[in-house]
Amino acid sequence: MRQLRGRILLFFLILFGAFSIIFFYISSNVFTDQGLNQQASGLEAQLRTLQSQLDGTISDSTELPELINDLKRAEAVISERITLISLTGDVIYDTHVDQSELENHLNRPEIQAVLSGEDLGTYDRISSSTDDFRYYAAVPLSNADGERIGILRLSKRVEEMVGFSDELVRYFLLFITISLLLTILFTFYWTKRIGDPIEEIKHVAKKLSHRKYDARYQSTSYREIDSLGGTINNLAGNLQGQMQEIAQNDKRMRELINHLVIGVLLLDENRQITMVNPVMNEILGENLYGKIGHSYLEVFKSYGLNQLIEAAYEGNELQNREVSLLLQDEKIVDANIVPIPGRLQNTTNYIVLLYDITEIRRLEKVRTDFVANASHELRTPITALKGFSETLLDGALEDREVLIEFLEIMLKESSRLDLMVQDILQLSKLEQKQIRLNVESIKAGAVAREVFQILQQKAELKKIDLMLIDEEDVSLEVDHDQLKQIVLNLVGNAVSYTPEKGTVRVEISYQEQEAVIKVIDNGIGIPPEEQSRVFERFYRVDKARSRNAGGTGLGLSIVKYLVDNLNGYIELNSQVGKGTTFEVHLPLEFKNKFMPPN
Ligand code: ADP
Repeated sequence: MRQLRGRILLFFLILFGAFSIIFFYISSNVFTDQGLNQQASGLEAQLRTLQSQLDGTISDSTELPELINDLKRAEAVISERITLISLTGDVIYDTHVDQSELENHLNRPEIQAVLSGEDLGTYDRISSSTDDFRYYAAVPLSNADGERIGILRLSKRVEEMVGFSDELVRYFLLFITISLLLTILFTFYWTKRIGDPIEEIKHVAKKLSHRKYDARYQSTSYREIDSLGGTINNLAGNLQGQMQEIAQNDKRMRELINHLVIGVLLLDENRQITMVNPVMNEILGENLYGKIGHSYLEVFKSYGLNQLIEAAYEGNELQNREVSLLLQDEKIVDANIVPIPGRLQNTTNYIVLLYDITEIRRLEKVRTDFVANASHELRTPITALKGFSETLLDGALEDREVLIEFLEIMLKESSRLDLMVQDILQLSKLEQKQIRLNVESIKAGAVAREVFQILQQKAELKKIDLMLIDEEDVSLEVDHDQLKQIVLNLVGNAVSYTPEKGTVRVEISYQEQEAVIKVIDNGIGIPPEEQSRVFERFYRVDKARSRNAGGTGLGLSIVKYLVDNLNGYIELNSQVGKGTTFEVHLPLEFKNKFMPPN
């Protein structure tokens, strides 16, 4: 901007200089002409006055010298040079120069003009006699008869005549200097008044281009510049608004992607990772944020998935397939590779979407296994019933002893069948969330005593002691029937899998915000490798023993399901030959009083 200011200043100076010179030239000419005319007419008037005084005073040219005395008198009042010239050009008298030194003036233009009959002859030139620039005016002198008998001439130095004095030049220079100073001052002022706001606008625009959207034009200047500044401010405001919107959208998009239950990964046109969400990290069991900018091949170790991505890149179209990833545990994912337009023109980026369906597939397997297992389990008692009834019908009916024995077996098998069907039904109801919870404050000890009553006979048969330790008289918010079912299944198992004369102890206590119910026996125990599986449906460590004990293989599955639903958890501690402890942890306050409606 300084450069521009300098240029404007220089331009004005040149313009001013040129105008000054032209003005000086024109006005000097005008002054000269005006002065010349004025003084010429003054000189001429003097000449005419003198002429009128001398005209008719002599009769012919020989008497011209008689006029010298008159001229000498006139010299006292007329300071200009007076010359008396004969018609032949000889100088008769000159007030300023000795006439003897003067040459013949016949060829002087003013003389020539008079001789040719003009009334007035004028001319300006450098005088050869006085050696200065002079204005000459000549008139004829006549006798009383009007005959021309001589020539009278007045001359004046031109500089004197022009009167373009040093004073005028001084004034003129003073005027120019002041004007020049004012021009510089005003040019500086205007250029600053215009230049500074433009500089500010430039500054604001620069800041905007550097993404500093809060920059604004604040100066006040001329309306046009302020309006330009206002436009820049509007632009900045719009830009700021748009940027905020973009940032907000970006934030929303990130939040959305980060909270999606699907793993998301973005690949650019060079097959490099540009974005990843937390679920993708979870699925792959690896922190992928450090892999941004790396090739996807460093991340996905699955041949099937890589093939799918390559197919998307080659065909530039959406790909979808169920792929299994061989990570620490096998994971099954529903993979979608979606092409989207890239940041650069004519490029395509790809979104890799992985939906972890391992659990879905596992549950599907559990269900199909359950159907197979349930059919298998149900077939055993049904086969027995069918076999015994056929044998009876084939004639064994006649033998009363065999009949009673068979009928007892059939009763036992049908009870087992009944138990199993009841358990299956209960599990299916629980899974379908058909059971409504009736949560109330319950004394856990009272529930244990109810269970002891039910199992008293079974325990007595095996001479097993049932003990309850509930020193803190624990109470908790829970569904009574479900808690009873949990304790019944655990204590029932403890009695079943503890040899005669053993003990089964129920210990109830508070632990922080939980009620802990421990069912401890000193029975046969569960081998370590089986411990994680006993909660599976129909899983039994020893099938024969379980069947003899009247087990269905579903008791612990039901317990696990109920405990989960009551927001608790169950732990198992067991040593083969020494005994088993099941530890149920339940919250004292139940959060969701009712299961969601089906
Ligand atoms: P079941 O009806 O066969 O008892 P459960 O689901 O209740 O079925 O138990 C699964 C298996 O866990 C049982 O078959 C048994 O082998 C083992 N088990 C359960 N409780 C105990 C225990 N207290 N002591 C030893 N083994 C047990």
